[in-house]
Formats: sequence, structure tokens, C-alpha cells
Amino acid sequence: MPAGVAPRVLILGGTTEGRLLAGALDGWSVISSLAGRTSRPLLPPGEVRVGGFGGADGLAAYLRERRVDALVDATHPFAATMTAHAVAAAAATGVPLLVLRRPGWVEGPGDDWRRVPDLGEAAARLPRLGDRVFLTTGRQGIAAFAAVDDCWFLARSVEPPAPPVPKRLRIVLDRGPFTVEGELRLIREHEVNVLVTKDSGGPAGKLVAARAQGIPVLMIDRPPAPEAPTVGGVDQAVAWLKVAAR
Ligand code: NAP
Repeated sequence: MPAGVAPRVLILGGTTEGRLLAGALDGWSVISSLAGRTSRPLLPPGEVRVGGFGGADGLAAYLRERRVDALVDATHPFAATMTAHAVAAAAATGVPLLVLRRPGWVEGPGDDWRRVPDLGEAAARLPRLGDRVFLTTGRQGIAAFAAVDDCWFLARSVEPPAPPVPKRLRIVLDRGPFTVEGELRLIREHEVNVLVTKDSGGPAGKLVAARAQGIPVLMIDRPPAPEAPTVGGVDQAVAWLKVAAR
């Protein structure tokens, strides 16, 4: 890299970590990329682009066109398609790739978790496990429960879901982080008897609340981890980028 020219990083974001990383990179030219799923996203500092690239080839073309020096996949652990495209585009262009993923949750004493591989299996396990469900899989995950007629659902998402949705559904529009007290209030007020969540990692208020209330959790496992260098926190990502920029 020529002396005096700021190295350029493309951060694939849509997460708290992606936003924090964009603000932590002094001396870098930062571009953050969002999918455009929410109409009022929390914007990271620096340049922001919105919308898909047109597959792995489109991302590779973008990396070349914008002369990107390093690529960070800071997408949500369940954004598996975007991550696969990042791996393929990095391989095609030779741009170094780092995956920034917060660690998954770990079951502890007092927890009652059932791990399931995907949303479909979580839907199949209801209503045997509980019939008043707190569904925290995000807007796009709600459709997988549309045919579960024997349950009542309290579903939380940033924006309203598109059909199909379960027949008996109450939506709470809200954006995290959420407190343990707030989660307990929701669980008690709506007499929830099972929590459904993706293993997203990060603040765990709903899991602490489920433990305190003694209700089971259907924990949806992450898709397989990509084969790429991976760190769990923003500081480690900054350190990796310092080395990559040399
Ligand atoms: P996905 O299924 O892995 O990706 C589908 C397509 O959306 C990708 O092929 C890509 O289109 C586009 N895309 C995804 N993330 C993008 C980004 N950061 N910048 C530009 N294009 C992007 O993704 P998803 O699960 O729908 O997630 C979409 C976004 O929401 C991600 O930014 C993710 O971090 C965030 N998010 C997801 C979840 C979740 O549970 N999945 C939860 C919280 C936040 P092209 O092929 O056209 O490039």
C-alpha cells in the first residue's frame, strides 16, 4: 500500500459489532454495507452503502472497483448466504477476509434448553413444549411458525412481519438491547411458557429471564461456521486489521 494512503476496509454489517468496528478504525477509509432490510437502520459512522451486491461475483467486482484492502464479514451469525459470498469473493480477489462473530450462548445451571438445527424443527417441537410462545427469531423467522395453530405467539421484531404469520399472534415492535426486568415483565404479563430464539450471542436478558421464570428454551443452532479467520470481538478485529494493513 502506498505511504500516506489510508487503507480501505469494507465491513459487511447489519449488527452492533459492525457498527462499533466502523467507529473504531482510525486511519482507515471505512465503507459499511447494509442489506437494506429495515427502513430506519442504525447507521454506522463513515461511508454506508445499502443493498445486495448481486451474489459473490458482484461482491468481488465491488472489491476490485473500490480497491478494497480488507474485508470484514460482521453480519449476523445466521446471515449464512452473505457470509458464503464473502468467502468466495475474498478467494476470487485475494482480498484478506476476517469474520467478526460474537460467541454463541452457553447453557448454564438452571437453564432448560433444547437445541434444534433450524426454524422448521423449532416449529415442529411446539406445542409439546409450551403453547404460549415468546418468539424472538426476528421478522424473517416468523413465517416458519405460520402453521402452528395450537399455540399463541408473542413475537418481537424491529418492523412488522410480512405474511404468512401464525393465526394467534401478537407483535411487539422493538429493538434491543433488552433488560432482564423488561423480558421478565413480558413473559409474566403474557403467561409465556416457552421461549424460541436463535443462538445469536450477545446480551442474554431473555435467557436470564427464562431461567428465572423456569420456562424451557428452544435454541436454534447457528449455521456452520465459515472457513476463514474469525474473531469474537471488535478489539480483536481492530488488531487483525492493523496487521492486514502492513
Ligand atoms: P443472507 O440471507 O445471508 O443474505 C441474503 C442476501 O442479502 C445476500 O446474498 C446479499 O445479497 C444480501 N445481503 C445480506 N447482508 C448484506 C449486507 N450486509 N450488505 C449487502 N447485502 C447484504 O442475509 P440475512 O440473514 O437476510 O441478513 C440480512 C442482514 O440483516 C445482514 O446484514 C445481517 O447482518 C442482518 N441481520 C440478520 C439477522 C438474521 O437473523 N439473519 C439478524 C439480525 C441482523 P446479494 O447476493 O445481492 O449480494
